[in-house]
Amino acid sequence: MKADPSAQLRLLDLQAADTELAQLLHRRRHLPELAAIAASDEQTALLRGEALELQTQLDDIADDQRRFEREIDTVQTRAKRDDQRLTSGGLPSKELEGLQHEIATLARRQSTLEDDLLDVMQRRENLDAELATIVQKQESFATDRTELDATRDGHFAEIDANTTRRAAERAEIAGDVPADLLALYDKIRAASGGVGAAALRHRRCEGCHLELAGSELNSVRVAAPDAVVRCENCRRILVRTAESGL
Ligand SMILES: [Zn+2]
Repeated sequence: MKADPSAQLRLLDLQAADTELAQLLHRRRHLPELAAIAASDEQTALLRGEALELQTQLDDIADDQRRFEREIDTVQTRAKRDDQRLTSGGLPSKELEGLQHEIATLARRQSTLEDDLLDVMQRRENLDAELATIVQKQESFATDRTELDATRDGHFAEIDANTTRRAAERAEIAGDVPADLLALYDKIRAASGGVGAAALRHRRCEGCHLELAGSELNSVRVAAPDAVVRCENCRRILVRTAESGL
């Protein structure tokens, strides 16, 4: 392939633009905020699960509480009725004995139910406190997340502006490179880690950093200025400059 030496030199500008565009893309994909946001999302999901679990327990406990309250109510109503029968008097002694026994049983039952109710209320209080702690953590994560989003968006805006500017410059530079040379450069760049053209500086290929010697150096020396030369080692386009040391 042949190309005007000035077009070959332009490949180095093109490469600089492509390298910077690749760096911008890499930076955009690997912002520390993105990892922090992913970690925050993970924690938030865990907290959501914990909150849901606690809420389920609290719902069950509320059911228990209502059940105990109803039972206490029933026991109290019955004890009250028994009391009235007792105080109204005139009961045969056997019935009186049975009534007194029932009143004592109801009192014990009420006492047990009230203990159970207190127990349930205590558990509810503990769970409420746990839930409040989780809600607090959730709010703190939400605040951090808002800040992370804002920082990420700031970086995105800066990176995107640079990318737009550099891409426009890249397009302009590419306009100075003949189509066949550009196609070769793009093909090599895609296959060689993003570097399609490298300067030959002090006899060294700046693509693979190997020094040219012997017959390879000789063939580059004698090559016509418009010949497109490639590194024998990395196959990248070697651009000769005033500093090539030939
Ligand atoms: Zn090379």
